[in-house]
Amino acid sequence: MTSSLANVAYLVASLLFVLSLRGLSTQETARGGNTMGVVGMLIATAITIGVLLFPAPAAVGAEVVAPAPLALTILAIAIAVGAALGAVLAARVAMTSMPELVAMLHSFVGAAAALVGIGSQIEASAPGVIAGTDVAHQIEIYLGVWVGAITFTGSIIAFLKLRGTIGSKPLVLPGRHVLNALMVITCVVLGVLGFQVGGELSTYYLLGVTVIACMLGAHLVLAIGGGDMPVVVSLLNSYSGWAAAAAGFMLENDLLIVTGALVGSSGAILSYIMCKAMNRSIWNVVFAGFGEGAGIVPAAKTDGPVRTVQEATIESTRDLLLAAKSVIVVPGYGMAVAQAQHPVKEITTLLAKRGVKVQYAIHPVAGRLPGHMNVLLAEASVSYEIVKEMDEINEEFPHTDVVIVIGANDIVNPSALDDPSSPIYGMPVLEAWGAKKVIMLKRGMAAGYAGVDNPLCYLDNTLMLFGDAKKSVSALLTALQTAE
Ligand code: NDP
Repeated sequence: MTSSLANVAYLVASLLFVLSLRGLSTQETARGGNTMGVVGMLIATAITIGVLLFPAPAAVGAEVVAPAPLALTILAIAIAVGAALGAVLAARVAMTSMPELVAMLHSFVGAAAALVGIGSQIEASAPGVIAGTDVAHQIEIYLGVWVGAITFTGSIIAFLKLRGTIGSKPLVLPGRHVLNALMVITCVVLGVLGFQVGGELSTYYLLGVTVIACMLGAHLVLAIGGGDMPVVVSLLNSYSGWAAAAAGFMLENDLLIVTGALVGSSGAILSYIMCKAMNRSIWNVVFAGFGEGAGIVPAAKTDGPVRTVQEATIESTRDLLLAAKSVIVVPGYGMAVAQAQHPVKEITTLLAKRGVKVQYAIHPVAGRLPGHMNVLLAEASVSYEIVKEMDEINEEFPHTDVVIVIGANDIVNPSALDDPSSPIYGMPVLEAWGAKKVIMLKRGMAAGYAGVDNPLCYLDNTLMLFGDAKKSVSALLTALQTAE
């Protein structure tokens, strides 16, 4: 196969990956984006295999070196097993288990980058190689192995935490920042020394870097609380991209460099968006033991005067909804836990048929995953047109008759805007309190993820409908259907 044909095919695959990311950025185009990603990956895999099977001669008249049959057999087995495993996992995975699957897949990318680096090092350190000959290649190997090993163990710990195999409590060792710094410094020193000694000996230095980077990756993620793992998974996604890009440099594969950079930068942007939506800095996430003191307080405030809430019943809620001209539904983590999205959709369809203007308001970090609510609403076939992002919908609350907050808490907490002492002060929120009436569906008065009390519950225009979200919503649906 000519290298120009391979280059053109790689360019097409790269373009498809860029278009795929663009498509994945909105719900309407997400399926198309996914398809483009699949086609791009098919082209990339087919061309890479083609280049391996039919290598272009290095120079005119040079002999074509065909790959060994053993290498081809290993390649065929790897593709068959990988494809079968991937298909079974993708078909079986529950939406709620998606983060752990993604974490596991990142660990594969990290391991692959580290192994490619170690392989390149063994090749480059053959007897007779002089120390310090190819600086750029040595740096590629060193960085690829370093990032790959951190991603590998970090992702495995994230997977085990998300699965509940190991406790979600952060591991806070005394002097852990110093420990992290020491590990980083040791890796740099080993890298520099390894480069200077050259030859076979330098492989041992690289293996030392690999072991320490593995420990660093595990320690960084062990120090993070279980509930914060989605941000960490997004960060590890970014790391895995950079590890893949480094592997691309080592293998001199332009497509792998482009793809790795795309994954690395998109993962970094997603992590940034999540941090911003939670009013935290990215440095805080990486180094401050996210989930432990980083804006999270252990319990709701109990001081101050005892405040009372007004309770709603299914009947009073039904009457409010039947009298409303405009309704906004704010879904949160509790709706996901209760799996109440289907009856919620039926209620909004029924209201829309009665001429009520119905919309859904989505906060960027509602639930426990980026896009968690969008996926649940798509699963219940809610039309994308009525699903609005926070920035679009906030100005509509003052013109809305009824807002139904279903299992959401932090994302509608007014303290984020008006209480500088609140740990969530500064976090952008859905300003639901501006509506004429707010109905909050919760089981009790428990705080949300951030552990802070929510003044919205005590406002004059707020009514609390206590109970499991699915039971309450199903009862409300029946009440509305009977009233038809
Ligand atoms: P919250 O965790 O703030 O609140 C959820 C509420 O749901 C709780 O107060 C709980 O109250 C209620 N609830 C739980 N189970 C049920 C049920 N079965 N039926 C009815 N209600 C129920 O969720 P939000 O979605 O409002 O906010 C998300 C939080 O998660 C934010 O703090 C965000 O920063 C954080 N986060 C989000 C990430 C993301 O990527 N989306 C990642 C990491 C963190 P009660 O027990 O009284 O019923």
